[in-house]
Amino acid sequence: MYKEIVNYLDEHNIDLVAVSKTKSVDEIMSVYNQGQRHFGENRVNELREKQALLPEDINWHMIGHLQKNKVKYIAPYVHLIHSVDSLELAEVINKQALRNERIIDILLQVKIAREESKFGLSFNDLVNNTEAFKSLENISIRGLMGMGTFTTDEEITTEEFKRLKEYYDILKSGDFNSDSFNILSMGMSGDYKIAVEYGTTMVRIGSLIFGPRH
Ligand SMILES: *Cc1c(COP(=O)(O)O)cnc(C)c1O
Repeated sequence: MYKEIVNYLDEHNIDLVAVSKTKSVDEIMSVYNQGQRHFGENRVNELREKQALLPEDINWHMIGHLQKNKVKYIAPYVHLIHSVDSLELAEVINKQALRNERIIDILLQVKIAREESKFGLSFNDLVNNTEAFKSLENISIRGLMGMGTFTTDEEITTEEFKRLKEYYDILKSGDFNSDSFNILSMGMSGDYKIAVEYGTTMVRIGSLIFGPRH
């Protein structure tokens, strides 16, 4: 399945983050050995444990809700943080990046789903704070991330992905007009083909690659 997904995404020039949460080091190595170098985790503790055990050339993506007091553990090596959902969190990442003498790439997570439980900035909050986000010199805002509503209703997913792409385009041609603002992280196992149709540049796929989580 991994090869099929990669071939499909390569045809469309889309990047893949293999979401390895709950999966063992051996399971991750078997995907690594097929060439995958970008892996995503949603918990800091699990990310730290795996990072210590797995090859150094893996690019680790933090895709889950991130607590401010845990940023320091991943700041030295994290490749991209997808889940920046507040200015306060961005400020903490900026501070830890400075401490590690590096620039940390981040995505701003925008809430597009209907579920109350999902995290993310509203588009209005984002727009009202663009100057504050941009003033943080040790983070590089590379784009947006969003999660659709957990549903099999493709109309809902389509509407949400279309809307996220619109937000992305508005920012890219406006407040975040730069070559480095070029990532739209959108699409998971169940909806990545819809995401491809609506302009994703990076998908986060777990269960379709690794099998179901228990
Ligand atoms: C778990 C997770 C994924 C991958 O989910 P699958 O349905 O297994 O592909 C993608 N994004 C985030 C933020 C996740 O937590």
